[in-house]
Amino acid sequence: MGLTPGDRLPPERDLAHRFRVSRGSIREAVKHLAAQGVVESRRGAGTFVVSAPQAFARAMEAALAGARAHLDRLFELRLIIEPGIAAVAARKASAAHLQAIQKAVATQAEETDSRRWGEQDLAVHRAIAQATENPLVLELLAATGAITETREEALQSAARHEASVTGHRRILGALLAHDSAAAAKAMEDHILWAHALTQLPSKEDSA
Ligand SMILES: [Zn+2]
Repeated sequence: MGLTPGDRLPPERDLAHRFRVSRGSIREAVKHLAAQGVVESRRGAGTFVVSAPQAFARAMEAALAGARAHLDRLFELRLIIEPGIAAVAARKASAAHLQAIQKAVATQAEETDSRRWGEQDLAVHRAIAQATENPLVLELLAATGAITETREEALQSAARHEASVTGHRRILGALLAHDSAAAAKAMEDHILWAHALTQLPSKEDSA
C-alpha cells in the first residue's frame, strides 16, 4: 500500500476501507504489528511505519488473518454456549426474569447513542443467562468477557442495531412462550447473523 518507514499510518477508517475489514479488526491487527515492531506508536503523534513496504504489507495481511481467526473462534464459542443458555432460560424463566429481559430489550431498542449499543446487547444476553438461575452459567458468560469484541464488530450501523433488536425480540417471544427449542433456534440464528455481518467490509459508520 505504498507505506515506507517513517510514514504515519492512515486512520483506522481508511485502513478498514482499504483492506475491506471492520475497524475493530484493524485495531486488533495494528496491536499485533506494534508488538512485532512493524509499526511504532508515538504518544499524541499517531502510529508510524517502521518496516519496509513489503514487510509491512505481509505483516498486515498476517495480522488481519489472525484477527479474523480469533473473531471466528469467539463466535464459535458463543454458538456452542448461548443457544443452550436460551433453551434453559425458556424452561426456567420466572415472571421477574422475563420482565428483566423485556426491559433490557426495550432499553436497547430506545438507545440512540451508537457507543452504547454493544454494552446494551451484552445486557440482553446477560439477562437471558440470569434466567437460568445457574451461577456457573453467569460465571461462564463473565469469563468470556472478550466476547464483547464480537459486538463491536457486528453492531456498526443503525440498520444493524435495529436488526439486533429484532433478533432479541424473537428470542424474547420464545422465552415468553417457554419454548426451549424455539429459543435455542432464535439465539442460534441471532449469533449466526452477527457473525455473518463481520464477514462483510465495514459500513462507513452511517449511524
Ligand atoms: Zn444480541
